[in-house]
Order: sequence, then C-alpha cells, then structure tokens
Amino acid sequence: MFSSLCDSIVLAHENNYTKGRTWKGVTYKPCKFTPHMMAGILSGEQCARNIFGNPLRGASANYCIGNAGDLVGCVDENDRPWTSSSRANDYQAITVEVSNCEYGGQWRISDAAWNTLVKLAVDVCRRYSFRLEYNGTPNGSLTTHNMFANTDCPGPYLLSKMNELAIVVNALLDGETPPTPQPTPQPTTYTFEQFVRDVQSATGADVDGKPGPDTLKHTITVSTNTNRNHKVVTALERYLKVLGYYNGAIEEDQGKIPIFGGGMRTAVMNYQRSKGLKIVDGEITARANTWKKLLRLL
Ligand SMILES: [Zn+2]
Repeated sequence: MFSSLCDSIVLAHENNYTKGRTWKGVTYKPCKFTPHMMAGILSGEQCARNIFGNPLRGASANYCIGNAGDLVGCVDENDRPWTSSSRANDYQAITVEVSNCEYGGQWRISDAAWNTLVKLAVDVCRRYSFRLEYNGTPNGSLTTHNMFANTDCPGPYLLSKMNELAIVVNALLDGETPPTPQPTPQPTTYTFEQFVRDVQSATGADVDGKPGPDTLKHTITVSTNTNRNHKVVTALERYLKVLGYYNGAIEEDQGKIPIFGGGMRTAVMNYQRSKGLKIVDGEITARANTWKKLLRLL
C-alpha cells in the first residue's frame, strides 16, 4: 500500500527491492522514517522511473519527492526497499528520496519538497503509530543514510534539519501548531560584496566593496604553502563555499585558525578549471588571473 498523499505511483523494478518485510522469521512493521537526498534535481517520477526503474540499479525507496514537492510511490510499504545500506534499518523503515534544489554546496532542498516530506512523515507516523525521535544514532526512529555508510547522504542541509523535522512532525501528530523553526545559518548570505570587503580590509586596500585596480594591486598569494593571512583564507573559504566549490569547514566559525589545506586546494583547482583558466594549480597568486576572476575583473 501507498500513502493517499501520492500524486502518482511508478513502481521500482522488482530487481531493486525485497518482497515483504519478513527477515529471519520476524515480520517487521514500519517504525522508522529515513529521508535521503537524490544528489540531483529531479521530479519524483524521474527518480522513480529512470533510477529505480532501471533493473540494474540495485537501489530503491518507498517514495520519491521531486523538487516541486510532487510525491511518487515507488516501493509498496509492505515491501523492503534498498535505500540505506542497512538491511536492519530498511526492514523497519519507510524510506524517501528527496530531490535537491542545488548541486553541491549544502545540497539544499526546496521548501515545496520539505513541506511534502513533513506531510508524508506525519501520514506514515499516524498510520503506523510511532513518533519521530532523532538522536543522531540508528536507535532513533528518524534515521539517516550516513549512520550506516560512508556517504554524503542526506547532505549537510537535510542533516541540519533532522531535529526540526522530528519537532514539527511530532507537534502535528499532537494536533499542535509546530513551533517556528530556528533559522539555520545560510551560507548564501555571504555576498560577493561582503567577500570583496573582507579581502580589501584584510589586504590593506581601500574598503568599498567594489573591486578595482587598487583591490587587485593589494592581493596576496594564497596557497597551501602561503596562508599566513587568516582573514583572506576565511573570506575565500566562505566565498568558494557559497559558489559550491568548497565543502570543508569554516574554521573561524569553530574558533580555530583557518587553514588553506587540501580541501581548499581542490576547491581552487575546480574553480580554475570551471572558469577555463589556463593554470589549474590550486593556488591564488597575487595579481594573477585567479584573483582577477574571483574579483570579477577578468
Ligand atoms: Zn541515501
């Protein structure tokens, strides 16, 4: 059976899931909920048809939620999907693949997809009589893929929202108005202008948020060997993160000294490559093309 909230049903290929929820003589009733990210921007039908409909895929989920919030049933709730790299989890879980609304970075999901995820979770919990408990371990009833495998799934954004998902869903189950969620820090609030200001102020250039010859003249070389200017490193980390090239930590936010390490080197190389720069070396040389590109002077 499927949730009555479904917009459509597109069954997974039978190679990609296990019939029934009986394992070693025990029949499991769903008592867990496991959201995943698609690592792509898809509709529910695209995910169900093109990915889980592929007989060679070896993966599936009970539901797919598209970027527009569309809900597609894919593996019957009475069957065990292959989603979470954990047989034990998937025998007990209703699993959901959720489309992202950005590639890389925080791997965020749209508000429409989030709203459908909340509604589906409430519906599942109501029908199987359980609540969402998230404690970051597989013992809770709200679980995530990265608890069972070395994977980026469900992505930084969805992972940061798990606690909120439990709070909102449980409040709705109790017939209460969900509390206003704590705003999660959004890296996109770091604008180009702020980046330019931070670089200007860290290098002694005139600070006006508008890059020009004076800004370029003051730029310094930043690389794994030359990372003494912590403020410049932090500005670059923040900006490359917003652009989706850098996935590492912002050390300054953790009270640590920023390091231009391997993660930043890779981020810079990917940036140089994608901007078509001739030299792809992971270094940002004073007054050279990578700085010009970053400052939009090239
Ligand atoms: Zn996953």
